[in-house]
Order: sequence, then structure tokens, then C-alpha cells
Amino acid sequence: MYTVPKLTDYSSAALEKAASELLAALEAEAAAVRSETDWKEFRDRWMARKNGVLTQVNDLWLKAAPKDAKRDVGQRVNELKAKVEQGIDAALGRAKGGESKLTGSVDITLPGIRRPLGTEHPVIKTMNEIVSIFRNLGYSVAEGPEVESDYYNFESLNFPPNHPARDMQDTLFIANQESKPARDRLLLRTHTSPVQIRTMEKLKPPIRIVIPGKVYRNDPPDASHSPMFHQIEGLAVDNNITFGDLKGTLDHAMKALFGSSVKTQFRPSFFPFTEPSAEMMVSCFICGGSGRRGSEPCRPCKTTGWIEILGCGMVDPNVFEFVKRNGYDPKKVSGFAFGMGADRIAILKYGVDDIQLFFQGDVRFLEQFA
Ligand SMILES: [Zn+2]
Repeated sequence: MYTVPKLTDYSSAALEKAASELLAALEAEAAAVRSETDWKEFRDRWMARKNGVLTQVNDLWLKAAPKDAKRDVGQRVNELKAKVEQGIDAALGRAKGGESKLTGSVDITLPGIRRPLGTEHPVIKTMNEIVSIFRNLGYSVAEGPEVESDYYNFESLNFPPNHPARDMQDTLFIANQESKPARDRLLLRTHTSPVQIRTMEKLKPPIRIVIPGKVYRNDPPDASHSPMFHQIEGLAVDNNITFGDLKGTLDHAMKALFGSSVKTQFRPSFFPFTEPSAEMMVSCFICGGSGRRGSEPCRPCKTTGWIEILGCGMVDPNVFEFVKRNGYDPKKVSGFAFGMGADRIAILKYGVDDIQLFFQGDVRFLEQFA
């Protein structure tokens, strides 16, 4: 450890040598500083009033100097003080930086932190699968807003105001809109069908689109209902589209989705925006259409051997009237539309017994589909 020597020679060369020895010692001790605690010790050793190195320098070099050397020694001691202070300040910066470098450093020999891999949600997976089946048939994907106006959600789809068909869909309205005309009032869309109108307003026929998305109804949650759920809807408009095209397209899609052995069946139904309308059934792919699984009744098809999977029909000419200006003259074009619940299909496909499981975000449930 450096100690301040007494000087006997006050010549310029001797002073120079003594000063450079002191600075070398300072540098060596500063280099050994690793932490703030080290640094405090280092600072006190050099700067302490009582017996610090600088105090010693003052006593042993300056005070002891002969009168004629005092001026020169004083100047050198002042320079030294300034350098020592600088050196001590710099050491503090390094001590702090060194510490943070030390704690922030990476031990490359440690095994990495394995991040869990994400996976598609079963409902999204089902929707993507259905979308890709229709993409392969030349359909494109259309999307639209989930907060919709009464006009797009009901009126333009042939649900006139006060029409009883509106009661089939318990609608969630946005509050405080009484001052607006009825058709402009906002609601959470009850189906993806408004996107049909929005697309026909933008694109001239022919069109072939699928519309995946979230829809909302005032249904209290239970094992088969959720106030938010997912639909996939399709629309094809062209010259001479027939119910035969509808049946062929959907039959192909169901075989692609559930396996080539499923059969399809259409039963008359009613929707305001299609005429005629049908419900499509597929033969139960769980019991193979027998209605029984061994000695047990087949629950998904309620022992009937058929599962209702979607609603469909030929686009009602009244719907085309709303987009007639864009080339949809009901005398010239025809089309079919269909819509299905993606959650319901995921439930059937994966044998899930409660729709709520899809929306609870429980990783133990979801990782089964990884
Ligand atoms: Zn069955």
C-alpha cells in the first residue's frame, strides 16, 4: 500500500517523480475498486481530512517545504488534488457500472428459460379450417364491424321494423340512442350477415365470400349458450346460381370438414333473408348415423343419427333490392347464403361438453388442443 514519502529533495525533477509515483498508486488502487463499498473506503483513504493521502501530501510536502520551494510545491500539490479528485470520481462511475454489468451479465452456461409455445384456440382452429375449405373453392374472406347499425344488422336483411323475426335474436343495443332514427341505432351484431350487405355495396357481382367473426346475443351463459360466440357465413352471387349449387357446395364442405363418409340432408326452415330457406343436417359422425354408441344412446345427435349443423337458403330478392344500384338486380342475379356456429362445430368436433370452457382461458383445457 502506498505511503506518502517525506521529501528531502525539492527539485523539479524530484517533485515530478514523487507526483507520478503518487498518481500511479492512485490508478492502481482505483482499478481495484469493484463496488460502492470499495469505493467509499478508497475515497476516505485519499480524501479524509484526518490522515488521508492528500492531507499527508499537504503536511509532508507543502508545509515541510523550504520557503523558496513553497510556490512551486503548492502549485504541484493543487494539480495533484485535482487529479486525485477526478480519479476518485471516475472510480465511482466504474464501480456502479461494474455492479450493474455484473448483475445484468448472462451466464451462457445456464440452460435457457423455456417459453411455453402458444397454439391456436380450438374455435379459431375450427374457423380457419372452415375458411380454408372455402378458400380452396375460390371464396375470399370478408370482415366487418362488431358494433353495427340496425340498418345493416336487420333492415337491409329483410327484417322490417317490428317484424317478429327480430325476436328470434335477443339483441344487445347500445344505450342512450333514443334520439337517433331507428335504422341508425347501434347494436352488437347478432349475426355475421351484415357483412353480406357491406360487401355487396362495395363489390359488384359475381362474388363468393366467407365471413368469420364474433357475434353477440342476450343469452345467459350455460353449457350450450354464450352471449358472445362465433359464426362463419358464406355468400355466393352470380348469374344462374341454383339451390343445386348450394347443396353441392355445402355437401362438399361437410365432407371436407367431418370426413368423406358423412351424408347431408336439407329440411325446410325460415330465415328472413333467404327464400327458400333450409336447415342442413349431417349424418352423425360420432355414432356413424346409428344413434347409438355400443349400448349407450348417442348424445350429440340425440339418438336420431343426424346433427343440425347450419342454416342456409337462396338469397331473398328483397335483400338484393337494397344493393340493386351496385349491380344486384334480383331479376338478373341469384345467390345462396349459409351460416354456421363455429363454437358449436368445435364442440362437436372435439367432443367438448360445455361452450363456457372455450372462453375461460384455462390453460389445462386449451393445451389439449396444442
Ligand atoms: Zn350420433
